[in-house]
Amino acid sequence: RRAHYAALKDTPPVSRDGQHITLLHNSGLLADMAMLEETGAEGVGLFRTELQFMIASKMPRVKEQVELYAQAMRLMGDKPIVFRLLDIGGDKVVPYMRSTAEENPAMGWRSLRLALDRPALLRTQVRALLQAASGKPLRILVPMVTEAREYMKVKRFILRENERLPRLGFAQPETLEIGSMIEVPSLLFELDRLLPETDFVSIGSNDLIQFLTAADRANPRVANNYDPIARPRLRALKLVVDAAQKYGKPVTMCGELAGRPIEAMALLSIGMTRLSMGASSIGPIKEMVLGLDVAALKAEMNDYLENGETEGSAREFLVEFAERH
Ligand code: PEP
Ligand code: MG
Repeated sequence: RRAHYAALKDTPPVSRDGQHITLLHNSGLLADMAMLEETGAEGVGLFRTELQFMIASKMPRVKEQVELYAQAMRLMGDKPIVFRLLDIGGDKVVPYMRSTAEENPAMGWRSLRLALDRPALLRTQVRALLQAASGKPLRILVPMVTEAREYMKVKRFILRENERLPRLGFAQPETLEIGSMIEVPSLLFELDRLLPETDFVSIGSNDLIQFLTAADRANPRVANNYDPIARPRLRALKLVVDAAQKYGKPVTMCGELAGRPIEAMALLSIGMTRLSMGASSIGPIKEMVLGLDVAALKAEMNDYLENGETEGSAREFLVEFAERH
């Protein structure tokens, strides 16, 4: 299979009806970025910066952070990379950071919440990213945003640090884009406030589905009971796609859904065109895209989502569609 997928490397991911689908990597360590050569992906849609912190035995210094980010950018060449701010806590344990035991760590003091309460940690990281970019484009993604005003707070913080760069003797990035993760359900109902302020958004289906279904993503006993592409979840995802389109902002899916063929089909059927996934999924997803008539699928899926009369799950419908075509 690997040789088969490697042969697709230079084939553009264009569907049978001519739609270009952007395929990107999820990454976090330099080692897996070497895979870009092999897969022909267009860039890195999600760089999980917390991985450097998780594998270290003590807090990485600013110099070490700058080095990692600069090297990641160098490896990318002209391809874009999106750096996500630290998403520590929950299932992502950093052993040298003292934390108190929490009843519900996934819903606890983690990620952006921690960053806003500990601005020194955030400041160090933002400075490291800005310094590493120096003269190159920089894209920063904010995780676990629960309210639009939290996003605004971080955005102002980043812009202030960017203003300071020349005085500290550093060049500003060529361009600076700031985006928000959409992975907390409350934000679905504030998209009209969030989207005008963001340059792009990225859906984290792992957390979004966990919170929508109140089913722990790490507990298969409950997580497997709720199909992530069942009608209510697809309707939630479509809210984001439609709103992003209305405000003219790019939306990427960077949760695990994007890397599974039937699930990715579901995403294309609601109008998503940018998918970010583990490197080993690029081949299978590209193959699915090449064989798919997106417009035909969209028409049928829209009917299914809107009217909701069809018996059976979205998954059954998608499998049946794939067989029919
Ligand atoms: C997600 O929640 O879907 C996501 C991409 O972030 P993570 O898996 O790192 O929480
Ligand atoms: Mg997440």
